[in-house]
Amino acid sequence: MKRISIANPVFNGNEKKYLDECIDTGWISSAGRFVTEFEKSFAQFCGTKYALTCANGTVSLHLSLIALGIGKDDEVIIPTLTYIATANTVKYCGATPVFVDSEMDTWNVDPSKIEEKVTSKTKAIMVAHLYGQSTNMDPILEIAKKHNLYVIEDAAEAHGATYNGKKVGSMGDVGSFSFFGNKIITTGEGGMIVTDNKELYEKMKFLRSQGMDPNKRYWHTVIAYNYRMTNMQAAVGLAQLENIEWHLSERKRVSGLYKKYLGELKEYIEIPKEMDWGKHVYWMYSIILKENIKIERDLFMDNMEKNGIEMRPLFYPMHTMPPYYEENGDYPVANYLGSRGINLPTHSLLTEEDIKFIVSSIKKNIMSNL
Ligand SMILES: *Cc1c(COP(=O)(O)O)cnc(C)c1O
Repeated sequence: MKRISIANPVFNGNEKKYLDECIDTGWISSAGRFVTEFEKSFAQFCGTKYALTCANGTVSLHLSLIALGIGKDDEVIIPTLTYIATANTVKYCGATPVFVDSEMDTWNVDPSKIEEKVTSKTKAIMVAHLYGQSTNMDPILEIAKKHNLYVIEDAAEAHGATYNGKKVGSMGDVGSFSFFGNKIITTGEGGMIVTDNKELYEKMKFLRSQGMDPNKRYWHTVIAYNYRMTNMQAAVGLAQLENIEWHLSERKRVSGLYKKYLGELKEYIEIPKEMDWGKHVYWMYSIILKENIKIERDLFMDNMEKNGIEMRPLFYPMHTMPPYYEENGDYPVANYLGSRGINLPTHSLLTEEDIKFIVSSIKKNIMSNL
């Protein structure tokens, strides 16, 4: 039986050629032309002045937070529905993540529920553009301005998504991306921070490399980190970025097919909404099982797995997991999405036949479980 996997990286550009160059020239560590070229091209892609490669998309968030001075006793507002790294990196700084519920339309943080969580300790709002859809940024930027808060965009899942003509990552003080193997473009493991703020960029660069005095080798004035990316990863990243419009158009093709064939199941599932303010880039095409479907989400996925189709649950809300558990957490939308959401296979190798097969399996599974 053919197995349809949830994700599949595709390397159909200069990846091998650039990697060969790294090996042939010996530039395999964190110095080399691909690191600087990848950064330059990625800044251009996002429309920001600066970009800084990092070892992965978790440490790029950590680096952003510490460079902004977030530390002990500070609070950072984040969505409860996100990937664990968003919350953990706040904790790495000794600060406290404060959770906010999601909105039904975008599955991202609900701007109308943020202000009630602002206290005298709040230093920043960190949004996460989940599954390829931008957060509704204007009201959030306004709240941040009013209360003098930083805005960090966790754009790990949304390379190229837009909001009122702006690329995600370019609207806050800093934007952070991931190039993990299943992301829109990949370097295996890898991350990137973008910003327009020169001082912040210099500080992040300094902290990324052990905080060494740029004018005095092995002289360190602070405790910092090795969060660098290698030239080999950047070689793959640059080649992927050269083809990003193709990668994005493939996701558009796949999501278009899902939308077309899932249409007849509207009574039973929610599908992602496209907002008129921007471009959804469909890192993952996901569905939410409506309450008229009686089978549990995890059993539903098990049934699909039996047909050879890999599926994943939407993220579990932070407040439901042991490190961040809240007995009386009041997050109805995040709870609904997190307990009933499923990611469908989303990648460039899927054919129309694959999608028809996935949708017909979903339909059978629904019809036998009403
Ligand atoms: C993937 C991801 C990250 C972390 O990226 P890594 O490169 O895996 O460390 C952070 N936030 C979100 C929302 C992600 O999806």
